[in-house]
Amino acid sequence: MAKTLKIHSIETFGVHDGPGIRLVIFAQGCPFRCLYCHNPDTQDLETEQTKTKTIAEILDLLEREKPYFGKNCTQGGLTISGGEPTLQAKVLTSLFKKAKERGFHTCLDSCGAIVSKAVEELYRFTDLLLLDVKHIDADWHRKLVGQSNAKVLENAKIREKSGREMHLRYVLVPGWTDQEKHLIAWAKYFSHFKTVSKVEILPYHELGKHKYKELGREYYLADTKAPSKEEIAKAKNIFTEYLGNKVVVN
Ligand code: SF4
Repeated sequence: MAKTLKIHSIETFGVHDGPGIRLVIFAQGCPFRCLYCHNPDTQDLETEQTKTKTIAEILDLLEREKPYFGKNCTQGGLTISGGEPTLQAKVLTSLFKKAKERGFHTCLDSCGAIVSKAVEELYRFTDLLLLDVKHIDADWHRKLVGQSNAKVLENAKIREKSGREMHLRYVLVPGWTDQEKHLIAWAKYFSHFKTVSKVEILPYHELGKHKYKELGREYYLADTKAPSKEEIAKAKNIFTEYLGNKVVVN
């Protein structure tokens, strides 16, 4: 069984990806090519920068950070983000199993690109799934990330069926993901999901732009600006109408 995870980087004391204080590991590799991806250097699985960490090494890092996770590890834990972590579902399942045996909370930040038995198995050991649903319309989703949203929505249904908690994430990009009818459709689609305890609207920002230059790649959203306060408020109001007070802007 694989015991090594291909990673891009590690953030100790992360506070944006899951509840409380987190050890956040950014896995290398992603099947999507989001136009706004602010970590384009995580997309290819094998690069000169790709590092590896064994399960044992990651558990050691977790143990070191444990005092900051609160009593009985209730205020923090382990998050695997990316890239897309489910490309390495088997090794992550082993890692999450072991982390949970030691009492750590496990969180997976996924774009839902992969549907497989291995991913379902990983979900069983994932306390909280952060699922990015980047567009409700299949064609717009394809334009934005290079593939339709069919697998993403299937993953949402699989998680819902399991009864385990999930948060949904939505990047608000002017001209791309802020169309009123699609925001309504997105919110309606998830309005009956019982496992969704939070919906995060993430306003688009241009922070990753410079990385494209460094990688010698074109940045297709060069003319796209961050959404205004009014645009963010409008999206939040639409989501809130169908999803209630679980909607937040981060
Ligand atoms: S899913 Fe995430 S890592 Fe993958 S291309 Fe999109 S933004 Fe980048």
